[in-house]
Amino acid sequence: VMEVDTRPYQEVIDEVYEKIKDMPGGKNADYIPELALVDSTIFGIALITVDGDIYTAGDLDDRVSIQSISKVFTLAQVIEEQGARSIMDKIGVDATGLKFNSIIAIELKQGKEINPLVNPGAIAATSLIAGNNYEEKWKNITTTYNKFAGTELFVNEPVYKSEAATNQRNQAIAYLLDAYGRMYYDPAEATDIYTKQCAINVNTKELAAMASTLANGGINPLTKEKVVSPETVAFTLSVMATAGLYDNSGQWLYATGLPGKSGVGGGIIAVDPGKYGIAVIGPKLDEAGNSVKAQYAIYEIVKALDGNPYEIT
Ligand code: GLU
Repeated sequence: VMEVDTRPYQEVIDEVYEKIKDMPGGKNADYIPELALVDSTIFGIALITVDGDIYTAGDLDDRVSIQSISKVFTLAQVIEEQGARSIMDKIGVDATGLKFNSIIAIELKQGKEINPLVNPGAIAATSLIAGNNYEEKWKNITTTYNKFAGTELFVNEPVYKSEAATNQRNQAIAYLLDAYGRMYYDPAEATDIYTKQCAINVNTKELAAMASTLANGGINPLTKEKVVSPETVAFTLSVMATAGLYDNSGQWLYATGLPGKSGVGGGIIAVDPGKYGIAVIGPKLDEAGNSVKAQYAIYEIVKALDGNPYEIT
């Protein structure tokens, strides 16, 4: 039987912060030119429990673009609107096992069985979001994200412009899916909305609030507002467990046992259902595109809090 760590959460967070703060390794994403310019020393940790208690350490005011972590919340909203079956039928939920912006992944399965947490499936999910035009879809997305965060979030315009000018690959992905009949709105506009959702700025606490809303069955623990249903959350977390950390998703689940999602802006969230959501920001990424410091920090926190649900203590 494992020994249960009974230290207060804040003590654990402080200790992990000190341990990881100066950890070397990784580098900022640079395929989106603006991301290369982000201060790579930013390091913040936040954990928010389902009771709304907040524990933090490090840089809490600095914001980075949410990038791929946005995929989780767009997916959740589409499941909420259309039901879980629709994602199965129109996108797919199996991991591709390939890079997050793989075109081969589309080609291999003729546009089927792609995953909503990597680019092709994520752009398809954005195309499915309710709304009759660009403005309505965008409004739906920002309203959803704001409810998850419990505050109003804003687009990082330089990041949005920088990616919009260099996202030919994502445009190609959207058109290829369209050719297979697996894009559900204008491919160019869907890609643009997707690019903009990825450029939404978040700080560590806002991101942790979003994660904690998932931990709390879809009710934001800070505002007490119901954002999505518990069923929607369950399906969303399952996809996160399958494909949340790019092609290292298996290694992540093996190490932590928790659904997580990373973004090339440097953030990672992890969710311990019924307990808490964690967010860590650190812009330097490993080869797979996952923040080096955020991965280690979350791993250490989960270990210290006995957070792995597969481990019975
Ligand atoms: N906007 C980024 C892209 O589509 C998101 C990538 C990521 O965070 O994985 O390339």
